[in-house]
Amino acid sequence: MKKTAIVVGAGIVGLATAKALANNGYKVTVLEKTEKAVGASIRNFGMVWPIGQPDGELYQLAKKSASVWKNICDGMGMWFNQSGSLHVAYSKEEWIVLNELLVQFEKEGRPVSLLTPSQIAVKFPHVKQAQLMGGLYSSDEMIVDPRIAVANVSEYLKEFSAVEFLWNHTVQEVGNGYVKSGHLVLNADKIFVCSGPDIETLFPAEFNALPIVKCKLQMMRMVMPIHRSISTSVCGGLSLLHYNSFKQAPSLPLLREKISAEMPEYIQYGIHVMVSQHEAGELTVGDSHEYGFTFDPFDQQHINDLILSYLNRFMNAESWQLKATWNGVYPKMTDGSSWYFSEPINDVYILNGLGGAGMTLSFGVAEKMVEEVI
Ligand SMILES: Cc1cc2nc3c(=O)[nH]c(=O)nc-3n(C[C@H](O)[C@H](O)[C@H](O)COP(=O)(O)OP(=O)(O)OC[C@H]3O[C@@H](n4cnc5c(N)ncnc54)[C@H](O)[C@@H]3O)c2cc1C
Repeated sequence: MKKTAIVVGAGIVGLATAKALANNGYKVTVLEKTEKAVGASIRNFGMVWPIGQPDGELYQLAKKSASVWKNICDGMGMWFNQSGSLHVAYSKEEWIVLNELLVQFEKEGRPVSLLTPSQIAVKFPHVKQAQLMGGLYSSDEMIVDPRIAVANVSEYLKEFSAVEFLWNHTVQEVGNGYVKSGHLVLNADKIFVCSGPDIETLFPAEFNALPIVKCKLQMMRMVMPIHRSISTSVCGGLSLLHYNSFKQAPSLPLLREKISAEMPEYIQYGIHVMVSQHEAGELTVGDSHEYGFTFDPFDQQHINDLILSYLNRFMNAESWQLKATWNGVYPKMTDGSSWYFSEPINDVYILNGLGGAGMTLSFGVAEKMVEEVI
């Protein structure tokens, strides 16, 4: 008889886990409490972002995930853009950091190059030229449209891997070999709980003992008066403070000092500014990072104003119009781990805590974890 598995949660982590289990011969059922996924997995930039991951296992997992995304996109005829990424420098401190990263990334064999302002003007005319010192371009990064992509991944799993989806099914209890949802009791050999920021509901004791915090991010969607392509995803200097892979630049502390002194509110709200563009031309702009366990449900216009003001420093975005604002929440490990995996009950596993890299790492991480325990 075929081995069976249940996955709780149809966000990208649950879907990646379902895919890994199906690939390993399991008959998989996914239970999701809402009628479609509406969590962090559809609220993000859609950035599949190897450049943010340090060299070694994490970079390889990001590259692996990107190749899985491409297969799924091809299988579903779904749009994606191998957009690459461009980090731009407007101060000498930012420019020094980009130069240091170039040396390091080249040693690691990454596809990166430094561009001069005039090269940027030709390739990426939406980037502001005034005071631009140059940019670091990487061709590794890709964009999917999360509002469409995550729904398409579940369709793909249904069609190509016979994964069954039970939408509107809240799981209220998980035990060895079973889950309960209302009056329904389902049995399986293995159960994986991928419940994102709802982790404490099913496993309060584990949650309380974990080195984990939640993060609320504010985001915006914008449109240009006339649709033009920005050709890549663009990040300002603040993003250099954000990703672990940039920590190896010896001059990063100097840049942090400068930004802390000149822009304390950006540090206070954890703001760094990136822009990605999707098929219809809409631009996703963000974001801020507020840490805690219970968040004010109201978004702060002041934070969005700070993001927009910084966006206008490096993009010719003055004519872009605001179309939507929202926030998203994810759990993040505070001990430096890139994800959380445990077996609180025999054959019941929790996979969570991928923080701001779930779109980038999920396929690689889920495959690795599933293959370790089956
Ligand atoms: C604003 C924002 C921008 C981001 N940008 C990027 C980016 O560009 N690139 C990147 O790599 N990462 C990005 N991330 C991170 C990425 O989105 C997350 O790491 C990822 O979506 C987490 O996926 P998840 O499946 O754990 O959580 P979720 O997407 O929140 O899914 C969890 C699911 O579990 C379901 N669930 C919970 N409890 C139960 C229950 N008891 N029964 C049934 N179902 C249940 C929920 O309804 C939900 O659908 C961003 C995140 C945010 C918020």
